Amino acid sequence: MASTTATKTSTATSPQPVASSDISKGKLMTSTKTIWFLTGSQSLYGEETLIQVAQQSQAVLAEINANIAATLKQQVEIIWKPVLKTPQAIKRVMLDASADDDCLGVITWMHTFSPAKMWIQGLDLLRKPLLHLHTQANQSLPWATIDMDFMNLNQAAHGDREYAHAVARVALPHKVVVGEPGSADVAARVDAWSWATIGWNKSQNLKLARFGDNMRFVSVTDGDKVSAQLQFGMSVENYGVNFLVDAVAQVSDSDAEKLCDEYENLYDVSAELKKGGARHESLVYAAKQEIALMKIMKDGDFSAFTSNFEDLGELKQLPGLAVQRLMEKGYGFGGEGDWKTSALGAILKSMTPAGGGTSFMEDYTYHFGPGTPKILGAHMLEVCPTITKSKPKIEIHPLGIGGKEDPVRMVFTATPAEARVVCLVDMGERFRIISNEIKVVEPLEALPKLPVAHAVWEPAPTLDISAQAWMLAGGSHHTVLTNAVSLEALEDFARMARVEHVIIDNDTSIRAFRNELKWSAAYHRFAERI
Ligand code: MN
Repeated sequence: MASTTATKTSTATSPQPVASSDISKGKLMTSTKTIWFLTGSQSLYGEETLIQVAQQSQAVLAEINANIAATLKQQVEIIWKPVLKTPQAIKRVMLDASADDDCLGVITWMHTFSPAKMWIQGLDLLRKPLLHLHTQANQSLPWATIDMDFMNLNQAAHGDREYAHAVARVALPHKVVVGEPGSADVAARVDAWSWATIGWNKSQNLKLARFGDNMRFVSVTDGDKVSAQLQFGMSVENYGVNFLVDAVAQVSDSDAEKLCDEYENLYDVSAELKKGGARHESLVYAAKQEIALMKIMKDGDFSAFTSNFEDLGELKQLPGLAVQRLMEKGYGFGGEGDWKTSALGAILKSMTPAGGGTSFMEDYTYHFGPGTPKILGAHMLEVCPTITKSKPKIEIHPLGIGGKEDPVRMVFTATPAEARVVCLVDMGERFRIISNEIKVVEPLEALPKLPVAHAVWEPAPTLDISAQAWMLAGGSHHTVLTNAVSLEALEDFARMARVEHVIIDNDTSIRAFRNELKWSAAYHRFAERI
């Protein structure tokens, strides 16, 4: 999403952020969310050494903060906490982190030796994501001067291993990052995990409004909302479509006209929809839908929603443009009552760095050849304009299903990018995330008669293997397409949520994939905490 929309999203769904200063960069922060940097040691070393530990630990954090992306710093600040030396202090900080609504996760590093029995209770009480940073203050050994004082001060190599044993015993779904603090690789891995903590926080606080139930007879869009709330924290709440109908009726013509002016400024609005055009009233109605939906989202603190073309009540049009505009602002959406894809969309949008694109999507139709096989993805109307760099057109065309007036929609082609499509399915006894690495490409030819926003992509490793694997895993036809959330961030999120994540990429072979599904099914029946 664009930087402006990221800000809008956070203000729409959470209290107005209070700015705090980022000391290392002297730049204004826009978020109060924090990740706590915890350093382990013990009192054995004496005060002088512990002062040095604290100084070096602050220096390590400063190096990491200097390397992580500015887009992440707009969302969360990694803050230093005093060195931990006792079981009591460790337990206290873990309870505080768990209780602090603004704390998204905890990074731990054992600068020296911190006997890990000190950590067991604290780790067991921790309810926030954990990253174990295995690093040390120095990059190279000072071969010529190294003595036992240096050795005793820089012993994370075994201090972290002692600590890691306790983490393994407590069986937290943590991430381990190894390397010198100034390396770009370490920063990138911390960065990915930090985005995942943002997604996990979004998931934990996610409220989703459904206008109508599922499309009749559709299986994959259904699912267990109680299990979803227990596992992901999300609350899925149903509203009769009349709630939306009434909200649309309350929007004034003048407010809708103002929004139509905004459309004309931002997009390429077709002549018939412009002010004075023959079908301008249809655009006014679409604007009223957007204003009404925004009000419902804000009033109810919702960050995702669904619609169902089979259940539109007195709505004159299936909401198209309005849905696209809300997605552009960071809201999750699923068509046909698909609350899981909508929630996943809101989560992945929260994990999307400024400038990136994340959209509701549906595999629609294939190009088997000639050339590399491709998928043409779209939906009836609802594709998010963050996945294009071109200026969307706003047009009106008939919709063959739903029996309503012609709906207004944005039309555009997704910009080529490395990307992935992701889905969340309910397998009955558990949830499963499936993701497929894809390459969004230019359409082979212009699509002058296709009146909806669309994306064309080549899935990895091939369309043949991708589609086999996707369907063997029970993947949905609805997905979230993102060119911004990294595979690593997605993996980190799935681990935090303790949800299965099967990946389809260039390493996928069907034989191994089938085995993975079998073994994973067995694992999920037996495992409780790994
Ligand atoms: Mn659909």
